[in-house]
Parts: sequence; structure tokens; C-alpha cells
Amino acid sequence: MKKVKFKGLTGLVEFDQNGMRTSVSLDILELKEEGLKKVGTWNQQAGAQFTTPYEAVLDDVMRQLKNRTLKIVTIINPPYTMLKEPADQLSGNDQFEGYCVDIIGEISRILGFKYHIHLVRDGAHGTKSELGEWNGMIRELIDKEADLVLADLTITYEREEAVDFTMPFMNLGISILFRKPMKKVPNLFSFLSPLSLEVWIYMATAYLGVSILLFMLARLTPYEWVPSHPCDQDSGVLENQFTLLNSFWFTIGSLMQQGTEVAPKAISTRVIATMWWFFTLIMISSYTANLAAFLTIQRLKSPIEGADDLAAQSSIQYGCLNSGSTKTFFKESNIFSYKKMWAVMQAQPSVFTESNQQGVERVLKGNYAYLMESTSIEYMTERNCELEQIGGLLDSKGYGIATPEGSPYRTPISNAILRLQEDGILHLLKEKWWSSNKEERCGQEEKKTSISTSELDLANVGGMFVVLLAGLGFACIISVIEFIWKTKRLSKNERDPVILEFMREVRNIICCGLSSYRAKISSE
Ligand code: ASP
Repeated sequence: MKKVKFKGLTGLVEFDQNGMRTSVSLDILELKEEGLKKVGTWNQQAGAQFTTPYEAVLDDVMRQLKNRTLKIVTIINPPYTMLKEPADQLSGNDQFEGYCVDIIGEISRILGFKYHIHLVRDGAHGTKSELGEWNGMIRELIDKEADLVLADLTITYEREEAVDFTMPFMNLGISILFRKPMKKVPNLFSFLSPLSLEVWIYMATAYLGVSILLFMLARLTPYEWVPSHPCDQDSGVLENQFTLLNSFWFTIGSLMQQGTEVAPKAISTRVIATMWWFFTLIMISSYTANLAAFLTIQRLKSPIEGADDLAAQSSIQYGCLNSGSTKTFFKESNIFSYKKMWAVMQAQPSVFTESNQQGVERVLKGNYAYLMESTSIEYMTERNCELEQIGGLLDSKGYGIATPEGSPYRTPISNAILRLQEDGILHLLKEKWWSSNKEERCGQEEKKTSISTSELDLANVGGMFVVLLAGLGFACIISVIEFIWKTKRLSKNERDPVILEFMREVRNIICCGLSSYRAKISSE
């Protein structure tokens, strides 16, 4: 038998080693309105080959579509699909409105089909269970209870294996919805906030340092020693006004912008005073300016700034939609933070919600962050000034219209979506359903929050401390010069060598000696 070879009714008949027929060539027929029609051939080597051109097939599908009423399943999720008010007095497609309802209206206008929208029975988008069973809208599509799914249905690899998707009509990613921080409770010691602790400590040290140096230099320079009785210049008793107490009083007086009766006379002490006044001028102006900003800003910084912050803490709960692609994203992620977040969410299933609306309500109650798709977040934050998006997108994906596997309608619907995109209709619809007068409602608050305040730290005012230090060094040098100059002018019998006099004076300063002494006679 294997060697037999003849031409029969089905073409050439011959067999291979295993007795299977080879060289089989089949005609592909299609049932059309006018009956069976050959549309191509099939053989083992080349596979299926269609003789009908692609355009003709497409035309054919379009023709079929025109006479059909498609069953469309959807889910209530603003602004994609919503119930029109009063819903109980409306019926059929009129009950629904929203972005997706408008899109299907536009597509049906292009392709000419009729449609009937119904809501998914179990209120779920569709996830695969451990047993491989689908739920939600995907289930209805597989069971042929619907011809299309039109909703905020994310295109995922897992779903693509069970159903077909058209090209995406919207792009998005997962992000975090969180409540804006509450108003700050006024702090009793908020006057300390404009400067950082470090700067306060540096300022206190500068105050001590400058006061002590002023005291020392005033002792060293002979020009601060003046007759104790202004009316009796010849009494011979010299006095120094910069006692330790007076030095501290002088510096605090200028720091508080008040001044004192004590006034420096020598160049060196005047240099110190000038540097200190300049320092206090800058510091007090910076403090006042920052204090004003601190008192105006009433909002706290958000405790979380992204998914990593969420993963790293345990006081704020977080969750996502129960039967959706967001949950699958975390379940299957290999990124450390997201894996950690999945473990936390899984351990506490109450964090999952049955709808996005439920998630938003939980966020508004506080201490809960909701992982939601960015376009839905945008819609919610546009309408509620208390809500905000935290951080950027965790992934990037799109919403598509799902059709049963192998559905001929996928290509014409994809083409229609492309046309809507190119004509700018998708953009107009997005504007129509998303935009609100947020600026008007939340404007004032937004403005307040956009001013950021932070305490001034050493990086902001460090330069002033450097200038002050340089000024103090300069004053020390002048003071020594003044001392040498004046000592040299004393009569030789009255004084020891300059260096000895200098050492004696330093010792006197260190031991806080008397602030008056009898004047020595000048050589002039
Ligand atoms: N759009 C999602 C979905 O298709 C819903 C979600 O998980 O946030 O499942």
C-alpha cells in the first residue's frame, strides 16, 4: 500500500514510511451570503495560503459588522463608565455615560454596527485564579456572553493569552493615591524653626567667642584704657570699660538690634564691633525672612514620597483593587520593594477593595494609600482637593478593547481606534471627561503648598561665620600692633622690653585682672 501512487478524487494519493498521506492539498472554503466560496489553499509545506486579498477579507468583516448588534460588557468606574441620572427611568444604552461609552459610540459610527451595553455580573475586571479560572469581564468574553469588553481594562500578558486586545486607546501606569497632609498644629516653639539646630548652636558659640575676644582685645589695646575721671585727665588712673560683663552686654545688645552705652574706642575693638554688627544684620534678616515663610505655610510635608517609602514603613496601610491587573502586577513583580509590598498586602487581605471608589473613600479617611492607575488618580485628584498623587509611575501599560480569541472584529476596531487617535477625538474625549475647574476650587490651597520652606542650615549661612572669623583675626592683629606701638612710646624707665610687657598683659587678661591701673609716663 505504501508504494501505491495514483490520482484520486482528492488529488494525488501517496503515502510516507508511516503510512500517512503526503502531498495533500486542500481548498479553504468560507460560508458567505452567496454560499461556499474558495478563499485559499492548504498544504503541508506552505500551510494556509489565502487567495482572497487582505482588504477583501477586511471588507467582508466590515460588511458583516454592519448587520450585527454586539454585546458589550463593562464595569462602573468613573469616568470610563457611569450610570446616568436618573438611571431607573432610563433603559438600554441610555443608562450609561462616560469616556468608554463615548468611544464605543464613535467606533460604531465608523464601523456601522449596533451595540448593547450591559454590566459585568461579578463586578470584577478579571483575574485568573490558582486553578486557572477567569472571573469578571474576561470570563464573560470567554463564555461568549459578550463580544467586546469596553472598560478601563489593562492589556496584560496573562489576559492576552485568554482573549485578544485591540490597540490601546489610553496609556497609563500604576501610582499612589494619598490624602494631602493635614494642617499643621501650631507649635509653641515654632519661632525656632527658621534656623536649624546646628545654626543655633553655632550662633551661641559665636556670641560667646566674640564677647570673650572683645574683652581680651580691649584689655590688650592701650587705646581702650582711658582716664577714669573725664574731668580729671591727670589723675593718672586708667580704666577699661570692657569688663567681662560689659563685653557680653555689648554683643547681646547688638544681636538683639538694640545697642548699649558701651562704645569701642580702639581700632581693633571697632573692627570686632563692625564684624559682629554685620554678622547680626545678615543673620537677623535671614531669620526674619524665613520666619515669615514658616508662619504662612500651614501644610506639612507628605510622610511618603514614593513606593519605596511605603514599602519601608508600617504605620500607613496600602492596598489596591482586588480583581485587577494592579494586584497581578504586585503579585508577579520581581522588584524588591514591590515584592515586599505584596507580602504586606497579602498578609492583610482587608487592604484590597472591591472598587476604586471604595479605595478613594478609604484614602479620604486617612492613614491609607491606594495603588491605582494614573489616569484614575488624575480624575480623582481633579475633583477632590484633599487627594494627591504621590511619586511617579511604577510601570507603563495601556487600556484596550478585548475581543474573544481569534475574533475577526479585532482588526477593524483597532483601525477605528487609530483613526480616532489621529483625528484627535480620543484627546477631546479625555479633556471632556477629566478636566474640572480644579484651579478655581483648590487654587488658593495649591498656591500655599507650592511655596516650600525649609530651615536655614549651615550651607545657607555658613559664609557669615567665615566672614566673622576673618574679621576677628584681623582685629587681633590690629590689637597687637596697637599694643606694641603704645608700649614703645613709653619712657624706657617705666617699662620692660615689649615682649615682657606683652606677656604680662596676656597673663593679666587671662586672670581677669583689674580694669583700672595707674598710667605710665610716655617718653614724648
Ligand atoms: N484597570 C485594571 C484592570 O484592568 C484595574 C486595576 O487593577 O486597577 O484590571
